[in-house]
Amino acid sequence: MKSNSKGDLTDLLICSEDLPHPGDLKALFKANRSFLGKTVQMLSKFNPRELDRLVHDLHDQAFSRYDCLTCANCCRNISPAISHNDVEQLSKKIKVRPSEIVTRYLKMDEEGDFVFTSAPCPFIDGENYCSVYSHRPKACREYPHTDRSRFYQLLKLSLKNAEICPVVYAILMKLG
Ligand code: SF4
Ligand code: SF4
Repeated sequence: MKSNSKGDLTDLLICSEDLPHPGDLKALFKANRSFLGKTVQMLSKFNPRELDRLVHDLHDQAFSRYDCLTCANCCRNISPAISHNDVEQLSKKIKVRPSEIVTRYLKMDEEGDFVFTSAPCPFIDGENYCSVYSHRPKACREYPHTDRSRFYQLLKLSLKNAEICPVVYAILMKLG
């Protein structure tokens, strides 16, 4: 990546062509796995504030050009970690007891987090709408984390997410 005379990273532009079709992402990720890995290594050495500024700008550009309803790869392929507060929120939304939410929809993963028992998520419909959107889990709200502060702490996670999320893939490819 280029930097200006002060050593700041120069701004980058993301366009619609940079954002792959969700169905193509697995193959693209496989083909560019090594490049993406090197990119993440390189980014770990950047000034954290500058990296945040750049990634947040690319995030805004990408999501202004991308409609998640045409994708839903995240809801269909991975489960968010579900906290007790998330269980309470889901319980309010679908009007069943919290214990019933756990029994019906959740299991514990290897790391001790509650996750949905199945993928696609039980709350996604055929048109990619989330039936619990107003009360969705915090991790769903935050995904794909490209607008979070201290993005350098999320580089490894983002490398994994680049196989799922076209926006993360496009951002990392652009930064490489
Ligand atoms: S709760 Fe909603 S946003 Fe979260 S994974 Fe399920 S469908 Fe997607
Ligand atoms: S957050 Fe990423 S993976 Fe999820 S629907 Fe939007 S573009 Fe697709």
